[in-house]
Amino acid sequence: MPVGLITKALSGYYYVLPDGDVNRQLVQCRARGIFKKRGESPLVGDRVMYELTENGEGTVDAILPRSSELIRPPIANVQLVVLVFAVQEPALNLQLLDKFLVHAESAGLDVLICLTKRDLDGAAQDDKTTHEQQTVGPEQAEASADSDTAGDKAGINSVVQQYESIGYPVVLTSAKLGIGIDAVLERLAGHISVFAGQSGVGKSSLLNAMVPGLQLETNQISMKLGRGKHTTRHVELIRLQNGSFVADTPGFSQLDFAQIEEPEELSACFREFQPFAAACKFRGCLHQHEPGCKVIEATESGKIAASRYNHYLHFLVEIKERKRRY
Ligand code: GDP
Ligand code: ZN
Repeated sequence: MPVGLITKALSGYYYVLPDGDVNRQLVQCRARGIFKKRGESPLVGDRVMYELTENGEGTVDAILPRSSELIRPPIANVQLVVLVFAVQEPALNLQLLDKFLVHAESAGLDVLICLTKRDLDGAAQDDKTTHEQQTVGPEQAEASADSDTAGDKAGINSVVQQYESIGYPVVLTSAKLGIGIDAVLERLAGHISVFAGQSGVGKSSLLNAMVPGLQLETNQISMKLGRGKHTTRHVELIRLQNGSFVADTPGFSQLDFAQIEEPEELSACFREFQPFAAACKFRGCLHQHEPGCKVIEATESGKIAASRYNHYLHFLVEIKERKRRY
């Protein structure tokens, strides 16, 4: 039985991209009644076995095991979330970035941090003319911070350095100048990804720059609201040249910690806390003011960034509040 990938679900139909088909025409399928009886339904992102029917359509017979399942947007098998933040306009909000990171960690997704609009930090022009450096590692970030006195650029470089040292890859892009687009594409290879980030940071512009012919609307905030775009739209996977897929709708639209029920679960979502948290004196230490807390010690000695620790405390209060209310 042929196997394929559901790239779109609309009005009770599933659109399946056949594996290994050179023409790669989508097959319009219905799901077998058995799914409904079991209370299951195929999702965009599912790899499925299907059967062709006489009219050229198909029937989805079985869903292959899922590696992950996102609820909003409803997509199976997402491996990577691209957290999109602008270096300017809107100003880079590290607390929000850390919140997105907590959500990605608790969903078990890999992360790529993408800092867009780098043409606005005063750093892009010389970069474009001198070399094609697109992913900035800690060493380059340090070197360029030394050689440049522009406050914005140095600030961005230290952010890049901070998050890369935790283990999150960072790519700087400009859709306007066509910088960093290939570096993002490379990171997405072989995956199903979602983009996440505030409205206006440049997600649509970045996707348009990555996919020839794609024309997602940009800068359409008021129109989106007017049409209720996010509530009524279907989810669709966009196919990239390198065989990877990206959802055309942003991930993590809810950022309310609904998935973290107990305050003790939060610190596991801060990767760099782990070696220290394991050595705290008390089991279930919340790293607030407990004696013998190694996370607090590590923050005081600069091994954990103060901003990350402060955001942790902030989220902890939010989670406790939430728990009290429900
Ligand atoms: P989204 O809401 O995250 O999808 O953001 P959009 O892609 O709609 O972009 C929001 C605004 O930022 C638009 O006015 C874009 O033209 C602008 N924008 C997007 N990318 C860049 C960039 O790389 N540089 C600059 N200067 N502006 C950008
Ligand atoms: Zn502790």
